[in-house]
Formats: sequence, C-alpha cells, structure tokens
Amino acid sequence: MSGGFMIFFIVGIALFIFIFTYVMMIMFSPKARSKIIARQVKSLRGATDMSKDDIEEMLTNLSGASINSKKRILDENEDTLKDIKDAEARINKDAIKETAGAVKEGLFGSTVYCKHCGKQIDKDSKYCKHCGGEL
Ligand SMILES: [Zn+2]
Repeated sequence: MSGGFMIFFIVGIALFIFIFTYVMMIMFSPKARSKIIARQVKSLRGATDMSKDDIEEMLTNLSGASINSKKRILDENEDTLKDIKDAEARINKDAIKETAGAVKEGLFGSTVYCKHCGKQIDKDSKYCKHCGGEL
C-alpha cells in the first residue's frame, strides 16, 4: 500500500468511527440527545431574536399598505358605497315594515289560518275558501 492511500484509509476509518459513535450516542443516550436538542433550541432562539426586528418592520409595512389600500378603495368608490348603504337601508326598512305588519295582523287582524290546509282565510268564514274544510 502506498503512503497516500494509507492516510486516506485511516482518515476514512476514523471518520466512520466518529460518525458511528455519534449516531450510537444519539440513539442510546438521552443525555447526549438532550444536549443536541438544547443546542438546536439555542441556535433557533438566536435566529428568532435576529429576525424579530425584520418581522416587526415587515408587519408595520404590511399594515400601512393595508390602510392605504383601504383608503384608496373608499375614495375611489364613494358613490357606489353610498348607493349600497342606501339600498341596504331601504331593504331593512321594508323588512321591518313587513314584520311589523305581520305582527299587527297577528294581533288585531281579521284573518286566521285554516286548520286543514294552513292557508290564510277570513276570521268569520265557516268554510275554508281554499280547501273547503269546515272551521
Ligand atoms: Zn283550508
């Protein structure tokens, strides 16, 4: 065997033994495992500390952009938004009117519901005009 190859061979074996021992330690020694995990946690914490400022700046920019875009959308669509609000108000008014009407009808109205078919009929009718059932 030549000298160069011998050194290569020895380094290879040493490396193999080192890696083998490392893997065995991780597999069978909880202490070694926890040491490695603790080191990883520490490095993660360092990385987080460093990126905290970046994240903060990013979020600040993001919320600024969000506010600006909201303002721009409101400015550009003021008329449409007003129309929408008006329409909503109209719909609500109609719905309230209808509900109030129904309540009033139920309390003081001159109609009742047929016990056979469930349709609305005059209070003092003897027969249902829809199904002919006797009341
Ligand atoms: Zn009926």
